[in-house]
Amino acid sequence: MTRLLIVGPQGSGKGTQGVRIAEAYGIPAISTGDMFRAAVKSGSELGTKVTEIIEAGNLVPDELTSAVVRDRLSQSDAEGGFLLDGYPRNLGQVADLDAFLGGRGEKLDAVIELVVPRAESIERLTLRAKEQGRTDDTEQVIENRLAIYERETAPILDVYRAQGIALEVDGVGSLDEITARVIAALEGHGLTRSAAA
Ligand code: AMP
Repeated sequence: MTRLLIVGPQGSGKGTQGVRIAEAYGIPAISTGDMFRAAVKSGSELGTKVTEIIEAGNLVPDELTSAVVRDRLSQSDAEGGFLLDGYPRNLGQVADLDAFLGGRGEKLDAVIELVVPRAESIERLTLRAKEQGRTDDTEQVIENRLAIYERETAPILDVYRAQGIALEVDGVGSLDEITARVIAALEGHGLTRSAAA
């Protein structure tokens, strides 16, 4: 049972690495960004509520986001562990997740922090905007999202550092190099893949 969180600024590659790490540990990768984008695309009630917020690069209200995550974590495939990508994203969500996991007698085992310099994040996001045409990848929205990351998300790392479960990983390099670094950090923290499966 491995319960992980991956944190990093937009453009740090946390989505890509999250999927790779989840695969290595045989657990589902749960991305709130992907869930919200899917909801927007499907035109569901949730999608209608969050469309404008996402397009502006702002955060969806905690109450709504935490409810979506609680539902997802209650599905059977998350019973044997999970990797959260993009949630929690502020201190309120940290408290919500803590309360939910605590109620099940669970807690996060490790928090992977992908460290990428701001200039590199911006460069990668601008490239992704051209390739994928994401509506929240315009220059102004990118700036807004990075500012929110620094103001609201970075402080959650202090909480996990104080708990001794934060693992800093250099997020600059090839995809394979970074995956290998994350796995080495997790194994160094006692989270081996064989025990997880
Ligand atoms: P991401 O793909 O993780 O960058 O998420 C895309 C967008 O979804 C964000 O800019 C937010 O608008 C919204 N979002 C994703 N995760 C959260 C979260 N934990 N709390 C609030 N909003 C979120």
